[in-house]
Amino acid sequence: MIVVERIADLRDRCETARRAGGTVGLVPTMGYFHEGHRSLMRAARGSHDLVVTTIFVNPLQFGANEDLAGYPRDLAADTAAAEAEGVDVLFVPSVAEMYPEPTVTTVHVADLTGGLCGAARPTHFDGVTTVVAKLFSIVGPCAAYFGRKDYQQLVVVQRMAVDLNFPVEVIGCPLVREPGGLALSSRNAYLSTEERERAAGIFTSLRAAAAAVGGGERDPTNIRALVETEGARHGLDFEYVEVRRAADLAPIGSLDGEIVVAVAVPIGTARLIDNVTMQIVGAEVSVDFGVITQESTS
Ligand code: AMP
Repeated sequence: MIVVERIADLRDRCETARRAGGTVGLVPTMGYFHEGHRSLMRAARGSHDLVVTTIFVNPLQFGANEDLAGYPRDLAADTAAAEAEGVDVLFVPSVAEMYPEPTVTTVHVADLTGGLCGAARPTHFDGVTTVVAKLFSIVGPCAAYFGRKDYQQLVVVQRMAVDLNFPVEVIGCPLVREPGGLALSSRNAYLSTEERERAAGIFTSLRAAAAAVGGGERDPTNIRALVETEGARHGLDFEYVEVRRAADLAPIGSLDGEIVVAVAVPIGTARLIDNVTMQIVGAEVSVDFGVITQESTS
């Protein structure tokens, strides 16, 4: 594996691989790898000749009072993990490399970014789409792997790639959970033991939603109320609970087709997000919680 810090170097390596007839798989991240990140690297490794993983804690996607300065970082451990997953190129640009000048050009995806996380983080998705557009532009034709953990981000990036004709196939990968059901996140590092126990209530609340839908509940308002009540039983005060159409996050009057129940919740200094998707056809409901791993983040 080669660690690359320069944009021109990364661009060259991707072009060389394609000229030799190879395909490129891209895994954009902010580092502090866990099994969720590693699952994306494995998916890319399984399908491509050159696997590129990027680590960049992107200042543009953090709000003024958010956790940019304290965001967990461990480049030595990340390098070892990426190497173990068979990554070919680990791209670790500095902020000056990515933003040599103050950014006056940004990418904004309308509508899809207004609700859910966009409501409390109004500048977040512009930061995400701007940096991802830069990475797509640098790497060139490739398949890019994103986790369903950040469900809204996946939908937003997919739409951006289509709207701007990037030669990039955006692939959504399963959400990876701890044995107890907590979605793996670099931000779980912020949780105390007590907070981690409370955080397990997020999965319990989503399971309650899935059970209700399985039992025939089709009213989004009732599902939201149920998740909020279940969360409160675990000491959780959700920032939002939303029940949306999965494809485009449109609000729905009744549950039908593919839907997502998405939540955000502050716990201590962390803000955690999670979701479950469900395919509803008449009385038939299939639920996708992602996968449970044996590995813990602690
Ligand atoms: P991050 O480093 O948190 O920006 O995440 C980088 C990529 O890893 C994004 O595509 C995330 O959706 C994905 N990811 C983060 N956590 C998980 C998880 N628990 N399961 C699957 N993918 C994840």
